[in-house]
Amino acid sequence: MRCILCYVASSEPNRGDAMAVIVVTGIPGVGKTTVMQKAAEGLNIKFVTFGTVMVEIAQKLGWAKDRDEMRKLSLEQQRQLQVKTAEAVAKMGDVIIDTHCTIKTPQGYMPGLPEWVITRLKPRSIVVVEADPEEIFNRRKNDVTRARDPDTVEEIAEHQQINRAAAMAYAALSGATVKIVFNHDNALGDAVKQAEPVLVGMG
Ligand code: ATP
Ligand code: MG
Repeated sequence: MRCILCYVASSEPNRGDAMAVIVVTGIPGVGKTTVMQKAAEGLNIKFVTFGTVMVEIAQKLGWAKDRDEMRKLSLEQQRQLQVKTAEAVAKMGDVIIDTHCTIKTPQGYMPGLPEWVITRLKPRSIVVVEADPEEIFNRRKNDVTRARDPDTVEEIAEHQQINRAAAMAYAALSGATVKIVFNHDNALGDAVKQAEPVLVGMG
């Protein structure tokens, strides 16, 4: 007969062994890619964007040629693609998955990691990268390479509040921890230090 601790350990593959999925979120322009790419430097950790993997799967299945075609698929097909993407990422080994906690639409906030995704990803931690709303506002303004939302400082603050709430809901569904990482202007090194404990044992 197996002891209860062996059973618990084997039923939680992302706890305590080397392979782990980390989700990194944060509102557009907060610096999530910059912070986590730096934190994972020198480690053997894959860095993938949920949307990119999703497009690749859609292309392989012949469902869509690109992101725009993918967005026009039926809701059921998009849901199936999300499930397939989560299952593929969960098998990648040590991986950081870059995605959005919530997506702001004219109809309201949409969960970026609905139940059928988060329960398959089973992340060890969800990192929420934040900065002061004014800092994000200025970064978006100065980043001419991207066409970003023209949100006000107040709207940016609200979006960050909603993302914290969403992250804890995802944690309740998956058992992940939620790590808030502050990425203030010109303090990238400090943000990377805050994120490092989440990556312990990976790579
Ligand atoms: P998206 O959701 O659009 O992918 P993101 O959250 O991944 O955005 P980044 O692309 O990493 O954000 O960063 C946005 C901009 O902010 C970039 O121009 C980046 O160089 C800058 N940036 C990131 N972190 C800092 C920082 N600590 N200080 C100053 N600028 C920063
Ligand atoms: Mg990014």
